[in-house]
Amino acid sequence: MPLSDPSKLTNAELVARLRTNLAEREQFERERAGMLSELRDMKAALDEHSIVAITNAAGKITYVNDKFCAISQYSREELIGQDHRIINSRHHPKAFFQELWGTIVQGRVWHGEIRNRAKDGSLYWVDTTIFPRLNESGQPVHYVAIRTDITQRKTDEAELEQFARDLEEKNKELETIVYTVSHDLRSPLVNVQGFSKQLNRACEKIQAAAAGARDGLVPAADLKQPVEVAIPQALRFINAGVNRMEMLLAGLLRYSRLGRVALTIRPLDMDALLAEIVTAMSFQLGEAKAEVRVDPLPGCLGDSVQTNQVFSNLIDNALKYRDPARPLRLTVSGRIEAGQAVYVVADNGIGIAPEHQGKAFEIFHRLNPEAGAGEGLGLTIAQRVLERQRGRIWVESREGEGSTFFVSLPSGET
Ligand code: ADP
Repeated sequence: MPLSDPSKLTNAELVARLRTNLAEREQFERERAGMLSELRDMKAALDEHSIVAITNAAGKITYVNDKFCAISQYSREELIGQDHRIINSRHHPKAFFQELWGTIVQGRVWHGEIRNRAKDGSLYWVDTTIFPRLNESGQPVHYVAIRTDITQRKTDEAELEQFARDLEEKNKELETIVYTVSHDLRSPLVNVQGFSKQLNRACEKIQAAAAGARDGLVPAADLKQPVEVAIPQALRFINAGVNRMEMLLAGLLRYSRLGRVALTIRPLDMDALLAEIVTAMSFQLGEAKAEVRVDPLPGCLGDSVQTNQVFSNLIDNALKYRDPARPLRLTVSGRIEAGQAVYVVADNGIGIAPEHQGKAFEIFHRLNPEAGAGEGLGLTIAQRVLERQRGRIWVESREGEGSTFFVSLPSGET
């Protein structure tokens, strides 16, 4: 209806105009109520789904929803008036928050992942969007932050990364094993090949002697060297080579089976375990006139059979690699360090040169092959066995003075 001076309108026209105004107002009110209820629904949905907080231009918290309180473990009263430092986990560098603030004070939306600290000290990750609300002159009046809990995803990601690292390490270990085994198998194989040729030559000599025999009689002198020297020597070396190869393959099989042996992890009484080992080895220890001292040991969590194997091996090595110039002195002690029980097996044997200390744990690696029986597998197995029990083994040694082996296992104490 065109606007005209109401004083010039007739009564009927006035009534009609009032009616129209009323209808328009009613329509506006209906739309307003509809929008409000839509907004209320959206807020309810948002509160149901997200962690919501509003801060004023100075960064002070003015509003938090229930989810914010639940995840941060702070009450609404504790949060209102504070800034977000209350949940800062100190994980992100200063520059991270400088970039965040630099973005939102300019009226731009910030999006990122933040690690926060709850009241009880536990950490949680939130995927965060901060939306600045601006006044007419473009200045932020407050910031609405909407967050989603992504702690589980972050934990999964970290686990996956750890898996990838472990896998890479295992692959490298496997490569080393394949390299070492093929290298170690080669030397007996070359021996077998070489002495097979010698055997062949000896056979040819005998065949030639037989072919040249007169009246079916082969002169004994023609047979003496092949039958008495070449053939027995070749057979001896071929046998030794075959035995060595068999030992290497059996060792490899033993090593590969380790991963499949089921572990029973339980609290171990290490005083009893060591006493049992020392008793079982008392004959060899006595023969070597060894002086053994076992201090009181802390307990740990482990598989008793496999842990027994580790310590038996260490004591066996102390016996094997003792210095013939002096009686063996062997001490076993232990302590708790950062949640791990650390056991120390120290001897005064021949020791290991610094450049060989890392290699002692490599498969089939023997630093003193002349020092009697041994496959070069004991420490490799100990390392693998301990890894599966969340433990570790390492050595410190001085050549000519002795070696100290350290074994760590979870202490079970928190
Ligand atoms: P093995 O004893 O069967 O050769 P191990 O894996 O147990 O195999 O040990 C690897 C190598 O580490 C040994 O050949 C030896 O040279 C060295 N070693 C191990 N323990 C000691 C020790 N207590 N003192 C000196 N050397 C040692």
